[in-house]
Amino acid sequence: MDKSGIPEIIDRIGEKLEEYKSSGRKAFVSSSFQTHSLPLLHIISRFQPDTPVYFLNTGFHFPETITFRYEIADLFGLNIIDAVSPVSKAGQRDGNGKFFFVNNPDHCCYLNKVLPLEPIILSHDIWINGVRRDQTKFRSQLNEEEAMENGKMRYHPMLDWTSKMIWEYRKEYNLPEHPLDAQGYLSIGCMPCTRSFVEGGDNRQARWAGTSKDECGIQTEFVKVEAKAEAKV
Ligand code: SF4
Repeated sequence: MDKSGIPEIIDRIGEKLEEYKSSGRKAFVSSSFQTHSLPLLHIISRFQPDTPVYFLNTGFHFPETITFRYEIADLFGLNIIDAVSPVSKAGQRDGNGKFFFVNNPDHCCYLNKVLPLEPIILSHDIWINGVRRDQTKFRSQLNEEEAMENGKMRYHPMLDWTSKMIWEYRKEYNLPEHPLDAQGYLSIGCMPCTRSFVEGGDNRQARWAGTSKDECGIQTEFVKVEAKAEAKV
């Protein structure tokens, strides 16, 4: 691990977390509990395990993800909280009785991910999330600290981490993997919108296959207008 400078990077994350705390700013973490989410959660557990970790529980996750979320809470000693949509599942169907994820996934993501995150952001000062530049075009253009419209701030400590760094960190600390990794899932979200490698497709096709959608909306909604515009260029 020493060769890649990861220990120094981790120390800087610890210093940043301390800086936020000592200045009286309230931070929270959001996580999707995929295998690649674990280094950030582990780092948080090492420096500030009392930081609340929110899981956007859409009600459409794989049972394996729910089990994994509880396993990690125990293993890392984290305070993990489910955030659920204020709109009941009965109100999440179109005129034909189909769930919105069938024909309008943007609206489904809005109801189940954007809406529940909003009050959490408003009741904190810093949103820590583990996005990486190499995941989507939008994410590639973010800064490590990014202002939000409402005067709050996002902190992206994993922005420049690579898959190799994630792997090295997991190996160093013997961190587990999401149980569906072994079944060929490259990126794991809600069950209706996730496809395994075995079912066909590459990394891009792992979520919302056959559409141009590559973000659920939480990353693109809560940034300043300038950042949104830059990301569209
Ligand atoms: S990923 Fe799919 S099921 Fe989950 S909130 Fe978005 S559209 Fe709905």
